[in-house]
Amino acid sequence: MSQPVSIGRRGEPELPPTWPEGFPPAFHVLAKPTGAICNLDCTYCFFLSKEQLYPGDRFRMSDDLVAIYLTQLIESHQTREITIAFQGGEPTLMGVEFYRRLVAKAKEVAGPQRILEFTMQTNGTLLDDEWCEFLAAEQVLVGLSIDGPPAMHDAFRVDKQGRPTYERVKAAWELLQRHNVATNVLCSVHSANADHGLEVYKHFRDDLGVRFIQLIPIVERATPELIDKADAGWGERASERPLYLQEGSLVTERSVTPAQWGKFLTEVFDEWVHNDVGEVFVPSFDAALGAWLGMQSPMCIFSETCGTAIAMEHNGDVYSCDHYVEPDFLLGNIATQHLAEMVASPQQQAFGSAKATTLPSQCVNCEVRFACHGECPRNRFTTTADGEDGLNYLCEGYYGFFTHIDRPMKVMAELLRTGRPADEVMAILAKAD
Ligand code: SF4
Ligand code: SF4
Repeated sequence: MSQPVSIGRRGEPELPPTWPEGFPPAFHVLAKPTGAICNLDCTYCFFLSKEQLYPGDRFRMSDDLVAIYLTQLIESHQTREITIAFQGGEPTLMGVEFYRRLVAKAKEVAGPQRILEFTMQTNGTLLDDEWCEFLAAEQVLVGLSIDGPPAMHDAFRVDKQGRPTYERVKAAWELLQRHNVATNVLCSVHSANADHGLEVYKHFRDDLGVRFIQLIPIVERATPELIDKADAGWGERASERPLYLQEGSLVTERSVTPAQWGKFLTEVFDEWVHNDVGEVFVPSFDAALGAWLGMQSPMCIFSETCGTAIAMEHNGDVYSCDHYVEPDFLLGNIATQHLAEMVASPQQQAFGSAKATTLPSQCVNCEVRFACHGECPRNRFTTTADGEDGLNYLCEGYYGFFTHIDRPMKVMAELLRTGRPADEVMAILAKAD
């Protein structure tokens, strides 16, 4: 699609007449139909505090806004495939009818030439048969948040009364499987599970039969003034929770340490590379293999630059990234400005290129930079050995991990380059052990 084609309007913001310079053919929007509102109260979830950005709001995306959003999203994609992603808060709080209307509208706007992929990140606790029938019928890819076996999951993933949620989430997992819904697990790594990487991985693989596992480090930043309040958590049960901002160089007691993160990744990788290549999928391992093959990472955190994964609030406010839903990173609102304009704006371009241009020299000269790229800027709040600012808090963990996987990655990359399947690495390693 060489020229922009508007889909039809009712006095809404217009698609630019030509594609702005450097405008990406596709971009990712995490839409939040209920804003930060959730039925659970996970202690580490600083997204819950974002409710404070919209005092007195009902936090429900209207059908009119959905129509504007879908039109702008679809017409500003130059690719055939378009991902339509929902997160929260808890997106299922909108009810299944909201998504039925949304999917129908998206298909109408997109027409038969486009391929739509719907994804939803959920805590799972509100899912029932009706939901799962809908998710299966529309082939929605569901990300379910589980942090490991009960004690590790329930350490922080609790409801508004502080009660554990593992059993409810496990029931949701089983329901999704019964309905053949495409599902992956999102596992947050924090102080309660960080020392148990292998146990967590085996729980997913062996007890639940999970085949797609996303691993996310919990790093909650705070300033010296706010650290005590931050330690108390971000949910409603905390009496004085502040608005979470990516500020400060202290971290809460729930946060994973750099050494724990490296060890967790390494333990899981070692089990995976010896037994599960081609059977279990961990996006950060796939991204690393891509890096060893000289490819660009599909994950923003391991890319040289970022800025093409934006977040949209329930009222149409668009922010530079899901992790930067804060006033300084507001790009505009889709009711008054087109998504394409916001993605192409100098503010957003600067946000994305800063990931590469603000790297400290320790990263610039690092032998695993091709795979790490200093990870996400939100975690770059420590100093290098030379006292330079901007080193990633998790650096020690990433350096250890990427160094550790060099040999098996080289083996897998060579297998793929010579037209053989990467899973032959398991036999090669077994022979060498
Ligand atoms: S700030 Fe981090 S999470 Fe956000 S787009 Fe950039 S790399 Fe990705
Ligand atoms: S391992 Fe550390 S020094 Fe190397 S690129 Fe990553 S954050 Fe930078």
